[in-house]
Amino acid sequence: MSELTELYKEIKACTRCDLHKTRTQSVPGVGPENARIMLIGEAPGANEDRKGEPFVGAAGGFLNHLLEMAGLKRTDVYITNVVKSRPPENRDPRPEEVAACSIWLDRQLAILKPKVVITLGRFSMYRWFPGGSISKIHGEPKKFGSTVVIPMFHPAAALHQPKYKDLIEADFKKLPKILAELSKVEQAEKPKDDPKQLSFL
Ligand code: URA
Repeated sequence: MSELTELYKEIKACTRCDLHKTRTQSVPGVGPENARIMLIGEAPGANEDRKGEPFVGAAGGFLNHLLEMAGLKRTDVYITNVVKSRPPENRDPRPEEVAACSIWLDRQLAILKPKVVITLGRFSMYRWFPGGSISKIHGEPKKFGSTVVIPMFHPAAALHQPKYKDLIEADFKKLPKILAELSKVEQAEKPKDDPKQLSFL
């Protein structure tokens, strides 16, 4: 069994916080174990709770459109959330729920070792930019060890407020250039006798 499949079994059985009492099922994540880009949202909503997959409702439809705009295929990236079980009535996750759930995101990051993390909304942004202001730092990549983290608005914000739609679309449109530059740097750092091309797209 792959490490990720083993992890999913544990997440499916998780009772570390009270959200397990009201969820239909937990929603671990979706995407290939060798994905180089990881997108992290907030928490499953009603559709995700029903289907067991992140971003399959209205926000997910918009996220698919954003990925397409950036030349990325949904099936090539890894998508997950900070909190793996749906908070009732789609309320914000509570600090104790985020804390209880953080071991799962830690393990996903350790298994995938993504080169690029795109945070969607405040909750995932806070993991790398505690107290950060999304309005000030959105779309700006920052390196943390060997991972580049790019904070983005949450796709659901764009569905509710048109001004965010333009901003998030502009940020995703900038992605191909950022990814191309990262591949160039990676290629330059690689031993000369390794001919494998590194590309995100
Ligand atoms: N919003 C999120 O943050 N995550 C989902 O999976 C769906 C909606």
